[in-house]
Amino acid sequence: MKANYHTHTTRCGHASGSDEAYVLAAIEQNFDILGFSDHVPWPYASTFRNPRVRMDVTQIEDYLSSVAKLRAKYRDKIRILTGFECEYFPAYLSWLAETKEEKGIDYLILGNHYDRSDENGMYFGRVHTPKELRLYVKDAVAGIESGLFVYLAHPDLFMRGGYPFDGDAKAACKDLIAACLEYKMPMEYNVHDRYLYNVTHRISYPNRDFFEMVMAAGVPVLIGIDAHDPDEISNSRQWDIAEAELGGYRYFLRHLPELTGAK
Ligand SMILES: [Zn+2]
Ligand SMILES: [Zn+2]
Repeated sequence: MKANYHTHTTRCGHASGSDEAYVLAAIEQNFDILGFSDHVPWPYASTFRNPRVRMDVTQIEDYLSSVAKLRAKYRDKIRILTGFECEYFPAYLSWLAETKEEKGIDYLILGNHYDRSDENGMYFGRVHTPKELRLYVKDAVAGIESGLFVYLAHPDLFMRGGYPFDGDAKAACKDLIAACLEYKMPMEYNVHDRYLYNVTHRISYPNRDFFEMVMAAGVPVLIGIDAHDPDEISNSRQWDIAEAELGGYRYFLRHLPELTGAK
């Protein structure tokens, strides 16, 4: 089985390519499962909108119907799932749970990008102090505990802005590991930044030190392309490198059985 659950669309305002182009790329790369998980729109209480980060709530129907059409059109070739990548925004989580039920969304992944809301919360890709790092961990753990999400995307996001793997980072990693083990939540080995900067080495995530601790602890890990362009799927270099890095790991997951019923 070959599955990628982390795929965006142009609706988020910072991705390119048609929805169908992502599907065709995945078929060409022999994926069995392609999950769309575009950045969820939040029903902001304020007038705040974030069109370069996420779609508007009014675009949900278009997103879901487009994916449903592709699912039907390519059903003999690939299994397509509908999802969202979501933060832990407490004020809007009941809306999220209801929307998932109501719209028959297959799954949600936890991408802990902002503290409590992007209306005024900090961006966790630019963590610079231990205090900010604790906020990141607190929100991530609360998200894991919420039971809404199937996996934790780029758990090492806090290192994107150059935060070192120091004692505080180790403590953060330890807390994330403990929560994931307790709630049986896999972590994602996210290859997007290596694609973006056209490198084979780690520049932000996945961070080697972080994942050495994760693997020593036995947390299940799966690869996420985090595709913002169909070429991230077509160009298999980053996927192959990640597979080589994880291939020998006992808890490397190639798909999420609970989403497909397949073994
Ligand atoms: Zn994005
Ligand atoms: Zn993403």
